[in-house]
Amino acid sequence: MRIVLLGPPGSGKGTQGDMITKKYGFPRISTGDLLRDAVAAGTPLGDIAKRSMDRGELVKDELVLEMVDNRIQQNDCRDGYVLDGFPRNIPQARKLEVLDRAREVVIEIFLGDDIVIKRLSSRRICSRCGAIYNLLVKVPVQTGICDACGGTLIQRDDDKAEVINERLNVYHRQTEPVVDYYRAKGVFHRVQGNDTVQSVFDSICRVLDSALPGTEPSD
Ligand code: AMP
Repeated sequence: MRIVLLGPPGSGKGTQGDMITKKYGFPRISTGDLLRDAVAAGTPLGDIAKRSMDRGELVKDELVLEMVDNRIQQNDCRDGYVLDGFPRNIPQARKLEVLDRAREVVIEIFLGDDIVIKRLSSRRICSRCGAIYNLLVKVPVQTGICDACGGTLIQRDDDKAEVINERLNVYHRQTEPVVDYYRAKGVFHRVQGNDTVQSVFDSICRVLDSALPGTEPSD
């Protein structure tokens, strides 16, 4: 079973993906996280990726596809996995089907541009454990410090105002067509993202509970 989370940057794919992992057990695979790990480790892939990421552009398909292919072949993905941030364009969606013919459920977390901009510019992440905060709705107890591990909170370079617009352009131009691609396959679902984290998750669970074999709808 493959669960694909679509949605603009800042729509909550990471948060919701983690909640899916906790409830259903499928690991979350975030290509953004894998790329940031490669950048932090200073690998050749990381060096190449950083240039595109800093500009808010997509990293080359071949690089991302190889990374995803390696990851989904690992043992913990045998029964299923959640993709967060992949596929980002039609060629990636097509190639994914060749890499793994798993049954799939695609969920778009829908959010308007105005809210994306507000959310991204107020997002902060822990430089140590990666926990996600928001200066408007998920404020840390102590300013600039992670509640979970005491690490320093930072703003992602690509959450800075000048890069956000380009990321949104890329989303509309390259990733939105993926919605139609999956809609045509009959595996597409949309949930509204402008709600509480728990309400969005409840909507996602309703989709998953009716799609996953052997589970009953939760309500
Ligand atoms: P994210 O954390 O998903 O917002 O991704 C951060 C950045 O990583 C994006 O703006 C892209 O530069 C790059 N990236 C993440 N996933 C992909 C992908 N599937 N294809 C190409 N680039 C990606």
